Amino acid sequence: MHMRNKGILMVISGPSGAGKGTICKALLEKNEDIFLSVSATTRNPRDGEVDGVNYHFLKKEDFLSRIDAGDFLEYAEVYGNYYGTPKSSVEKMLNEGKNVILEIDIQGALEVKEKFEGGVFIFILPPSMEELKQRIIKRGSETPESLMTRFKSAYQEINYVSKYNYAVVNDTVEEATEKIEAIIMAERCRVDRIKENILDSKEGFIHEQLYD
Ligand code: 5GP
Repeated sequence: MHMRNKGILMVISGPSGAGKGTICKALLEKNEDIFLSVSATTRNPRDGEVDGVNYHFLKKEDFLSRIDAGDFLEYAEVYGNYYGTPKSSVEKMLNEGKNVILEIDIQGALEVKEKFEGGVFIFILPPSMEELKQRIIKRGSETPESLMTRFKSAYQEINYVSKYNYAVVNDTVEEATEKIEAIIMAERCRVDRIKENILDSKEGFIHEQLYD
């Protein structure tokens, strides 16, 4: 049965150091039908980050005027900087049947949950808290203060797992990626997503048999 459906919006969060970024990158490389939404932010680019690829880097005034214009599906202040998901590009991709990943923080995810029906909320967990600590330290891009801030908030954030639909433990990137691919496949078969298409296509079929 041939059906064209809207893409699935996947919201992926988890404490920093859980490996969200690596998992999302692997998902994009392996799957042609998965796309990442590029967020806007007011934070400074890190070494190697490219404007328009990793983020749309904006001045605070510009970010605030986009909030006023209603350009964001959600936005949040994280560690003193603003981050937001551009609404129109996400809607366009979904309408084209593309599956879209939002890699956003918990506040943002909760906002999307309020505003958007049919999102799939996935929480990435580190294999252990010790592993999480090691990963944050290894990343090395943080000052000691921001390292402490990120580590403390990681502990707090894990409580929010209960607001999500799926929890994926990141033992290895390969396994975590496969789990998310399985989630997408299952979500694509959900009756509430495809019911109308099946029924329409059934009507079309009967019509063809009787009158064509
Ligand atoms: P980083 O500065 O390390 O790139 O990101 C810091 C945090 O901001 C991460 O938890 C990341 O998921 C989150 N983040 C990135 N983009 C967005 C966004 O568009 N909206 C929200 N709410 N959070 C975001």
